[in-house]
Amino acid sequence: MRLVVASTNESKVAELAAVLGSADGLGGVELVPRPPGLAEPEEDGDSLEANAAIKARAVVAATGEAAVADDTGLEVRALGGAPGLRTARYAGEEATFDDNIAKLLAALVGVADRRARWRTVALVAFPDGREVAAEGACDGVITEARRGTGGFGYDPVFVPDAGDGRTLAELTRAEKNALSHRGHAFRALAARLATPAP
Ligand code: IMP
Repeated sequence: MRLVVASTNESKVAELAAVLGSADGLGGVELVPRPPGLAEPEEDGDSLEANAAIKARAVVAATGEAAVADDTGLEVRALGGAPGLRTARYAGEEATFDDNIAKLLAALVGVADRRARWRTVALVAFPDGREVAAEGACDGVITEARRGTGGFGYDPVFVPDAGDGRTLAELTRAEKNALSHRGHAFRALAARLATPAP
């Protein structure tokens, strides 16, 4: 199976390739980068699944090939589930990773309950209109300061429950994939794709 990858985030593409290319992933899947110059669609869906579908469908429409996309959100309990769908734009439309982390840490100063959950929906859209989606989650806590240089995004301030106290940014890529929201979502997606539709 050949899938065009909707994302341009290199760290994300590398995680995805590691999961789908691994022995427990989808055997024989060929991941193809999205064509350069393709406009990014507006992610104005009302759920992670809707946004993943918007991203994948845009690539299908432009290439005529099956495409894989994911959409991810961070839900912080003390913030009532925010930033959620606004995770990428938490500190503003043009926010950098650093801006977003700074805003999150500022919002949690003095807050004892630092529990949070990452959620990812991974989705493949086919040219015939069929779509297959799967979800993955990763529970943990937000730290009081950044730790580590690996990964991307909010990784330096998230300690997963399933780990050993290190932040996601202190894990190797393989360690992160084994317990991360994206790892779980893409392994579930691979399993769904491998199961013939009824
Ligand atoms: P997207 O929906 O995958 O584009 O991600 C939404 C936001 O969450 C962006 O700001 C990403 O940087 C961030 N993000 C997505 N996945 C991860 C992750 O695995 N670790 C840390 N930040 C992430």
